Amino acid sequence: STNCERRRISIVGSGPSGFYTAYRLLTKCEVPLHVTMWEKLPVPFGLSRYGVAPDHPEVKNCEDTFTACAEEFSRPGQKHLFEFIGGVTVGEQVTLSELIDKQDAVVLSYGCTGDKKLGIPGENDTKGVFSSREFVNWYNGHPEYANDPRFVNFDWSRVKNVGIIGNGNVALDLTRALISNQIGELWDGTDISPIALKCLRQAPVEHIRLIARRDFDHSKFTNKELRELWELERYGIYGKIDPQYFREDAYDLRSIKDRAFRRRVEMCSEYLKPFDQRTKKNYKKFAPQPSAQSPPKTWELDYLKTPVRINSDGSGYITSLTLCRNSITEDNKICQLKDQQVTYNLDLLITSLGYAAKPLAEFQKLGIQFEKGRLANAAGRVLDSHGATFPGLYASGWIRTGSAGVIASTMMGAFEVADSILQDLSSLPAKQTGRIDFSHLRHTTWPDWRSINRKELQQGEQEGKTRVKFLSSEEMLSFHKQ
Ligand code: FAD
Repeated sequence: STNCERRRISIVGSGPSGFYTAYRLLTKCEVPLHVTMWEKLPVPFGLSRYGVAPDHPEVKNCEDTFTACAEEFSRPGQKHLFEFIGGVTVGEQVTLSELIDKQDAVVLSYGCTGDKKLGIPGENDTKGVFSSREFVNWYNGHPEYANDPRFVNFDWSRVKNVGIIGNGNVALDLTRALISNQIGELWDGTDISPIALKCLRQAPVEHIRLIARRDFDHSKFTNKELRELWELERYGIYGKIDPQYFREDAYDLRSIKDRAFRRRVEMCSEYLKPFDQRTKKNYKKFAPQPSAQSPPKTWELDYLKTPVRINSDGSGYITSLTLCRNSITEDNKICQLKDQQVTYNLDLLITSLGYAAKPLAEFQKLGIQFEKGRLANAAGRVLDSHGATFPGLYASGWIRTGSAGVIASTMMGAFEVADSILQDLSSLPAKQTGRIDFSHLRHTTWPDWRSINRKELQQGEQEGKTRVKFLSSEEMLSFHKQ
């Protein structure tokens, strides 16, 4: 059959990197391909579906490209064939060794599935301490977290003071979700998990502190996301920065060469002024609403501190966080001033330190090199423990780079990896062992996702939301059989 003449490539993970790699392969390859995409969850798109903030639906537009690609190449009669197999975890139900044995090339694009840790007392066993990955998965309705009792049974009514460790864009996403969720026009129409929204709306949040080890100049967020927070003043939600960490007169705007940084300084200077004293029109778009929230809600950028210890009460709930102050040395290193401690009263703490890449158990046996929190690779070609390329094995996306980079940079990286595969393909042996048998495994196919998606959108339309997600794998796996 034509199927036998096709070169076979398996892709592990259906997030942006898996899909952009597939897209590039399917649109560029000259010889016929059969691309099989394996996804742990019954549904595709990885962090586009379960990471990106629900109030940023435009970021998920990449899913349209992925869908168009999948639709085009899952039609019969095409030169290339695309197959999606959801609900199957590679390394568990299907081994990586089997994929390597039976496929001409294998792309690992399974993202970062763990958490980076603070490594301080109280981090793992205190109620009200979560990682950003868990928290974001929960509010996005990820089936492994949507009903997690640590969230659902948590007493949200006690949450007034929140600490977030880290100040990247994910920390800002969390801040918006925690501080503005009661504003219907921002959240009611989103696909945030209704379970999470109900919990979050019970939390009388008053203050959120975003804590960074370094200074203002080393803040990790981007301007667009920061501006979005400042603009919440129109709902009576205000931003703060202590003058010891940011003062307009510490900067000479004209001499700042980095444009993005200049704007950041200008933005914070302007927003920290009372509305009628602002000089630039850009920062007077929405008049602040003093009475909208009572008591007023504030978020605060806090700097030069490292967490030391999480403190809890007799029933295991977080009460406060002890930190030490830092200074930055001449050669730009963080110096912890251990004798200068501060303690913040907190009812909720979220660590937003980045996601950690985890090796598959089989890597060791196969001699695959995993170092510095990612797969060792050269232009996406995975390296073995001797530093030589492992023939036919590739890495794409966050498992290749570590948890940094937006969807656009993930796309560029994925294209580079696909181009490496296209270069190598003619010299990779065509495996003759045939198909991987997964018929005994409960799984979803692309047409199944099509019906799940249709149902979610329909439900959304009825409720005036972008979508209403299925919240358990069981529901998804049984729905498509109906
Ligand atoms: P992922 O998206 O994580 O995809 C990995 C996939 O592999 C998942 O579907 C997972 O279920 C699957 N998988 C895992 N293990 C296995 C296994 N063993 N077998 C089979 N499948 C497996 N970027 C932007 O441009 N704009 C934003 O607003 C934005 N917001 C973000 C918010 C958050 C909270 C986070 C964490 C990231 C955000 N990003 C944003 C970045 C963006 O999500 C990443 O650049 C991108 O998702 C990385 O793609 P990936 O395919 O490498 O990983």
